[in-house]
Amino acid sequence: MGKARDKSYKFFLVLLKTYKDNLIAFVVALAIGLSFIAYEEGFAYKIIVDGETIGITKNINEVKNFIEELHKRERQKTGTDIVLNQQIKFERVRVGKKDLTDLHKIYANLENAMSFSYKAAVIIVDGKFVTALKNEKEANKVLEMLKNKYAKDSDRTYFKEDVKIEEKYIPPKYLASREEALKILQQPVKKAVTYTVKENDSLWSIARDHDMYIDDILKLNPGLTENLKPGQVIYLSPAVPNVTVVTEKRIVYKEEIPFETKYTQDDKLYTNQSKVLVEGKKGLKEVTAVVVSYNGIEVSKKIESENVLKNPVNKIVAVGSKRISYIATGFFNYPARGTITSRFGQRWGRLHTGVDIAAPQGSLIYAADGGTVIFSGWESGYGYLVKIDHHNGYVTYYGHASKLLVKKGDKVAKGQKIALVGSTGHATGPHVHFEVRKNGVPVNPLPYLNR
Ligand SMILES: [Zn+2]
Repeated sequence: MGKARDKSYKFFLVLLKTYKDNLIAFVVALAIGLSFIAYEEGFAYKIIVDGETIGITKNINEVKNFIEELHKRERQKTGTDIVLNQQIKFERVRVGKKDLTDLHKIYANLENAMSFSYKAAVIIVDGKFVTALKNEKEANKVLEMLKNKYAKDSDRTYFKEDVKIEEKYIPPKYLASREEALKILQQPVKKAVTYTVKENDSLWSIARDHDMYIDDILKLNPGLTENLKPGQVIYLSPAVPNVTVVTEKRIVYKEEIPFETKYTQDDKLYTNQSKVLVEGKKGLKEVTAVVVSYNGIEVSKKIESENVLKNPVNKIVAVGSKRISYIATGFFNYPARGTITSRFGQRWGRLHTGVDIAAPQGSLIYAADGGTVIFSGWESGYGYLVKIDHHNGYVTYYGHASKLLVKKGDKVAKGQKIALVGSTGHATGPHVHFEVRKNGVPVNPLPYLNR
């Protein structure tokens, strides 16, 4: 070792001795500093979207700003809250320069990989998503518009289905405008059933074939009449939309109350006779009802109250209980209401075989007793004549009639109408020639007649 080197060695030792403690600190600091620089040189961030690396960069702040910018842009576009559908993570890695991704490439990759969900007011019908609007106010507005379509002068309007509005994050494609939402809500979930009219169809046959009421078909087809044309298409059931608007309308109207007919027995009348004792009169009531309609089509009517304004008057009819008998009683009634103008006996030198009862032309002639018609027709001198056999040895004659009401073979009851008064044959005026023959021989009728 030379002298100079010894010197410098000594100096170093002194120095070492003097600065020993500081030097250690310095060396440590230097080492840390150097290694820090070396470390920073190779340090970067991996950008991971939903587990997939889309780039590596040192410019982490720029990337974060870009993501924030995308958020802002999307929010401004819709004016609603949005959430990112993906999870973005940054991972610190040591890489070489060649592994770094160009910033523009990272931006492009982010735009591709990122998507947002929108906060929306979702309309849920019977638990199912139907449509969505950007906020609850809009959703309510659309539901209100739908109700108003049918609400016209109804007293209550509501939805048949359970309709709810819920706040949810949804993909932007499900977000609808008012008009779109209104259309979707009215879209059919069940199609209408139609029928094409065939030759010889009638409302009645169509209703019968489809187990429907004609009234229901008419309700579904306003303006429809019985005048069906082949090829005409009619509705048998309406389309069922996503949402059904139910309207209730209270109506007040007057309705007639029908009367009943009561019967009483009358033993003075024959069983085939009846007499109206009291004429029936309809009553009147005021009815309050609630008409329920689905989307404007009436489905039911509930009667709420009835107020009787006028009670009906029941019709009362007396019905005969006297049995009709064609059997002779053995006594004779006067065959007509009138005056005896000629008696039985000799007249102008010959026998007048009966009594003449003058009565108005066309008035009624009755059978004097029950029996069987054995002649009804024209006979010389008698004109139109009826003969009744009473099956007890007696036969009665009724002559000069203007019209005959019975025919040969008819069974007649005592007092039954048989002919009309006239002046046919040898007669000077309208009268009945009434004759009684006992075993074929004319006898004086007067002793047999009940007065
Ligand atoms: Zn006579």
